[in-house]
Amino acid sequence: MTGIVEPSFRESVDLMFSRAVALMDLPPGLEEKIRVCNATYTVRFGVRLRGQMHTFTGYRSVHSEHMEPVKGGIRFATTVTQDEVEALAALMTYKCALVEAPFGGSKGGLRIDPREWEEHELERITRRFAYELAKRDLIHPSQNVPAPDMGTGEREMAWIADQYRRMNTTDINANACVTGKPINAGGIQGRVEATGRGVQYALREFFRHPADVARTGLTGTLDGKRVIVQGLGNVGYHAAKFLSEEDGARIIGVIERDGGLHNPEGLDLGAVHEWITLNGGVQGCPAGTYLPEGAVLLEEECDILIPAAIEGVINLGNAARVKAPLIIEAANGPVTAGADEVLRTKGTVIIPDLYANAGGVTVSYFEWVKNLSHIRFGRMQRRQEEARHQLVVDELERLAAGLGVADGLSPGFKQKYLRGADELELVRSGLDDTMRTAYQSMSELWHARGDVDDLRTAAYLVAIGRVASGYRAKGL
Ligand code: NAD
Repeated sequence: MTGIVEPSFRESVDLMFSRAVALMDLPPGLEEKIRVCNATYTVRFGVRLRGQMHTFTGYRSVHSEHMEPVKGGIRFATTVTQDEVEALAALMTYKCALVEAPFGGSKGGLRIDPREWEEHELERITRRFAYELAKRDLIHPSQNVPAPDMGTGEREMAWIADQYRRMNTTDINANACVTGKPINAGGIQGRVEATGRGVQYALREFFRHPADVARTGLTGTLDGKRVIVQGLGNVGYHAAKFLSEEDGARIIGVIERDGGLHNPEGLDLGAVHEWITLNGGVQGCPAGTYLPEGAVLLEEECDILIPAAIEGVINLGNAARVKAPLIIEAANGPVTAGADEVLRTKGTVIIPDLYANAGGVTVSYFEWVKNLSHIRFGRMQRRQEEARHQLVVDELERLAAGLGVADGLSPGFKQKYLRGADELELVRSGLDDTMRTAYQSMSELWHARGDVDDLRTAAYLVAIGRVASGYRAKGL
């Protein structure tokens, strides 16, 4: 592939969009309207820290307002650029459309290494950034609702929510200005795990489609599948944890910033995660063989490769050597458009980012609804549900006793059946339903149309079709 220039992240998203649009019959002009990013706000602000003024650069990009509010995470990283934020905002538009979350796409970023600052310093920086965005309605419950992304989490979202509340003291819906908040600050059960959980549900649904699995050359279920994960942060850790603990997958490789760990027998994920938390990287962890050049593990033999760190890691430089027959893009944009073509030609199946990591925005949607309705999910129904189930159990036991059935109902059944669903169970159920439905819409297109040769194109087709109807309904 020498001589071919690697497209930027935003160009990659545009190229993937164009591949799909070429197969559609959109009215003239609408294609361009959907593709372009509506607006990107750049802010440079100063915060006095450690005895001097420090200037920070941040962005909030709004890709599409066919539905409002617009939604998308805020990333803290030194690599943040306008190009990256715009690419991520575009992905949010398509992602929300694909999983039927009623939002337009947005994304934000602050060019900063969060590890260089003390917590109280980071709080001042985050609050100031939030102030700059909120005063332009780029943080607002009905206009623009951020969420966590790389380098940010519950803590930052709580600061942002509090900052917005201070600036809008009479807004009864202030909590809905951002999602991914801690429970005690208006968050929802299951948001922290949501994106990783969504990756697990996506893979489960994939393995429920034997014709799709056959295209990878794999067989059976997730049980025993060898998995390599890049990035053991929020998304990668939860995905790896659930796949290994609940589906029998074997995590044989982990790639972090400082290198990789490999163990064909399976890594003790809990031990690796604890090591990273204590030491900041994988080096020295006894769970597996340490490889200083972690990226070589992207090319290692495995069944499922889960890039869950940053964009562009599978590119023209290594795509031809990637051996995994199945890649699930837990990160946004981990496979460049060039690499996508190389892998497609090789027959590698890619479960695309706009679907694979949509668990985060799906549960954010539930959190936003919870904040607007001011009541926790399940609060009204749970005990009533339990009381009705108790009636059924009592009646069954009465009948069993009448028929002389000695053992009656099994205790396991009674225990499970009697318990009404709490918020976490409802969130997981809603997420599972969302991931299954969205997968089916992609998979159907993939099989039904001879001109759709991959899941990514199918995902874009479904998403763009929905955005186009949104614009048409608005009369634009
Ligand atoms: P995070 O900051 O919690 O974790 C990222 C992890 O990747 C960290 O452990 C970091 O050390 C590691 N990492 C960074 N650069 C690396 C490199 N070059 N090589 C190997 N490892 C590296 O971030 P996250 O929230 O887990 O996000 C990861 C990806 O998932 C991003 O692409 C993000 O946009 C996407 N995503 C996140 C969410 C969410 O809810 N957090 C939702 C959708 C998509």
